[in-house]
Amino acid sequence: MKSKQKAVWITGASSGIGKSLSVEFAKNGKNLILTSRKNDALERVKKEINNPKISVETIAFDISVIDEIEKNFETISKNYEIECLINNAGVTSFSYAAKDTVSQIKNIIDTNLLGSIYMIKTVLPGMINRKKGTIINIQSVAAKKVFTKSSAYAASKAGLSAYSQVLREELREHNIRVIDVYPGATKTPIWPNDALEKYSDRMMSPDEISKFIFNAYSVNSNMVTEELVIRPMKGDL
Ligand code: NAP
Repeated sequence: MKSKQKAVWITGASSGIGKSLSVEFAKNGKNLILTSRKNDALERVKKEINNPKISVETIAFDISVIDEIEKNFETISKNYEIECLINNAGVTSFSYAAKDTVSQIKNIIDTNLLGSIYMIKTVLPGMINRKKGTIINIQSVAAKKVFTKSSAYAASKAGLSAYSQVLREELREHNIRVIDVYPGATKTPIWPNDALEKYSDRMMSPDEISKFIFNAYSVNSNMVTEELVIRPMKGDL
């Protein structure tokens, strides 16, 4: 039987932190499964990586739809074993709770919380069988501190944080690491243009954050970085 290649699956790989993580993990020789909804943007990331020594698969689908995750996983798992899942895809609204529409709230919870949980559920049986694996959840400081105009987002990240803390305890016996990363303001397209214009000097670079995350991932030992809280030196916006 043909042996499967190991790969790192990065969700939300088409822009921002996910794109930087893709470039960083590729530089370090990891085969990649890059997913998000926009195939053309994923293809651009693959082109930028341009590394003939690794395999890079790009697949466009909506992470909030469990059937789409399962269908794509069936194809991916014919050739790859997922050694690391990076749950990075995320959305927000930057509006007051009273102004958020039900469809905005549903999209935020379905993508950030349920989508991440569905991804974990999908890759977990393989990791448990192999008694090895890493799950990295890109959380947010909004799960730890109050920011206005981010109620649904904070709920989604605080929910994922609680899920992840329980998961970590359940997975210790299976030798599966769970790493939660809580970034503060980072210069990416998630922010509206006016915020980027006003604060971009203060915001962190997604490339630097990705280096930090790769370092935490690459520790090969009997210890694990369980939480990384990374803030701009000058503090939150
Ligand atoms: P970004 O540039 O807007 O990236 C978000 C990514 O998620 C995109 O690749 C987007 O791709 C993907 N995505 C959104 N909805 C999706 C869906 N339904 N299905 C599949 N993919 C979806 O923003 P970012 O700042 O890099 O955000 C990455 C993560 O970091 C998020 O979880 C965010 O909450 C977290 N974070 C960001 C900051 C910050 O200040 N930037 C701070 C703390 C935490 P498509 O549009 O192609 O689907």
